Amino acid sequence: MSRALVIAPGAVGYAAVRAGCSHSEVVRRPPTVLQPGQAMPPTSVAVVGFGRALAPDLVAGTVIVATEVRNGPAAVALPSANALAAAMIAAGLTVRTGPIVSADHPLSEVEARGLAEAGALAVDTESAELLSQVAGDVRAVVRVIVDGDDRALPRIAVPVAALGACRTLRRVASVLDWWGNAVRPRRVLLAGPRSFCAGVERAVRTVELALDRYGAPLYVRRQIVHNRLVVERLTRQGAVFVEELDEVPDGATVVFSAHGVAPAVHLEAQARNLQVIDATCPLVAKVHAEVRRFRRDDYEVMVIGHAGHDEIEGTMGESDHLRLLGGPEDVGAIDVAQGQRVAFVTQTTLALDEVAETVTALRARFPDLVGPRSDDVCYATQNRQDAVRAMAEDCDLMIVVGSTNSSNTNRLVEVSLRSGCPAILVDDASELDVRRLAEAGVVGVTAGASAPPELVEGVLELLAGLGPIDRSERSVADETLYFSLPQEVR
Ligand code: SF4
Repeated sequence: MSRALVIAPGAVGYAAVRAGCSHSEVVRRPPTVLQPGQAMPPTSVAVVGFGRALAPDLVAGTVIVATEVRNGPAAVALPSANALAAAMIAAGLTVRTGPIVSADHPLSEVEARGLAEAGALAVDTESAELLSQVAGDVRAVVRVIVDGDDRALPRIAVPVAALGACRTLRRVASVLDWWGNAVRPRRVLLAGPRSFCAGVERAVRTVELALDRYGAPLYVRRQIVHNRLVVERLTRQGAVFVEELDEVPDGATVVFSAHGVAPAVHLEAQARNLQVIDATCPLVAKVHAEVRRFRRDDYEVMVIGHAGHDEIEGTMGESDHLRLLGGPEDVGAIDVAQGQRVAFVTQTTLALDEVAETVTALRARFPDLVGPRSDDVCYATQNRQDAVRAMAEDCDLMIVVGSTNSSNTNRLVEVSLRSGCPAILVDDASELDVRRLAEAGVVGVTAGASAPPELVEGVLELLAGLGPIDRSERSVADETLYFSLPQEVR
């Protein structure tokens, strides 16, 4: 377990930090001058204490994790800020990240305003000097705001705010213990392939181009892909996400998501004179076509998938004679007439072994069972699972980037766990709790098919803020598939 060196120069702050740290070394001044690269594992050094607000919207008790410390024209960058901030947020603290200023004299109001306008969040008197005296591989500066927008409070309120800031500093100190533990050199194995698949690229691009062509508001039925950050970005660009078509004005343009819709939704859109742009993934559309073919040939069709998922809702809408199977345990309860032919299709984003178990149970009950001409579990789902399986045994922890409502992303977590590697699911780097990284010397990183590549880069940056990383890719497949765009946006 590595220990952080925590420098808390003020007497009150020092007492609070001492009370909050259980195993970091806490000092008021740097004991020695450390040399860069001197220690293995890397030395983590945090300068901690109180600060005064520069940004007008800061409130007392806010924790500032500095991304850089400015001192006149000089600035020291602190790349560990995001990792530390994520840990503070996970601990329930109110956190802002950004530059702070170290000033060697009391600031006039004009100076303070100028620094705030230049983006500085807070000011202290000693961070720059202390940082110049330590050269740990991973350094951080944390300040708890003692004034902020309560500057107009009566005098009696100020000690109350200071007491609250002391309590916050104690909590900050306990997070620094974890942060110190997490600082170490690491190997990072990147799964290949990871992140966007062809169907998601097509769906997201469809909305972007439709916004360009038709302008905002552009209605999108359901999340275009199951990723919170993609949906938030498109919302900012003018997309309006709705659950059902009755939320769309008559005659408006509406995009159908990558997960596909039931035929009844197409009919409703037609009746309402909506202009439809269908971003259904062609591989989902293939499953719909299989269902129609099986029904036309009078098969009883079993749909293997997860109840409530948008894709399953669309597929089940193809016919009233479909049965949804969540797993092999549902096979026993199937009630079909003697001699009835039985077929199956599957959701595109399931785990392959999960499907195999259900199909085996189905075949045991219906020896003449027929299935799709080619697997319904799509190439992207399969490749991403294979990549996780290929590297899981070499990793201490698997970080899976994606949203909790993304089916293929959840399957990556399950595949990793089944392969014996602990896994965590994060929407982006800000959700990564450094406590999980303490014991992880080899970290696997992957992303669901609906998670944009830049979110993976954010996670890598965060890991690099916790010590040197040796990064390599484990690739199991090259993906070159491309789906042409819907003609309305071509
Ligand atoms: S995961 Fe597969 S089915 Fe889903 S959008 Fe991507 S390519 Fe299409």
